[in-house]
Amino acid sequence: MPVTGLGPYDDTNIFARILRGEIPCRKVYEDAHVLAFHDIAPQAPVHVLVIPKGRYVSWADFSATAPDAELGAFCRAVGHVARELGLESDGYRLLANMGTQAGQEVPHFHMHLFAGKPLGPMIS
Ligand code: 5GP
Repeated sequence: MPVTGLGPYDDTNIFARILRGEIPCRKVYEDAHVLAFHDIAPQAPVHVLVIPKGRYVSWADFSATAPDAELGAFCRAVGHVARELGLESDGYRLLANMGTQAGQEVPHFHMHLFAGKPLGPMIS
């Protein structure tokens, strides 16, 4: 069920539980501000989710309220993950669903990273 992407933050959401170690994930990368892991239902040969460790509901929340250090760390981490996975030569797609019409399902901001095949047009 899509969520609005607006607050308040729900500490029981699935990514909050992954961050607390209550649910396992296939980790790709972690630093002080960011965790990246494989999507449980991949929509491409490579489908990684990159999330900030802070309590942000959506892109709208993260972009407006996160400190510059967290914004910067997040951007750097996304690029680092793509580079470490060897995706730069063939390319990749970044996507963040914000709110109901975009179909956001998990109310903790996340960036999808897709790669591994020609990805086709952007919007279906
Ligand atoms: P959204 O639609 O909110 O942009 O994307 C949520 C993503 O989280 C979906 O691609 C979905 O497959 C993924 N997802 C949902 N639950 C889990 C989980 O428990 N573990 C992992 N690794 N991914 C999940």
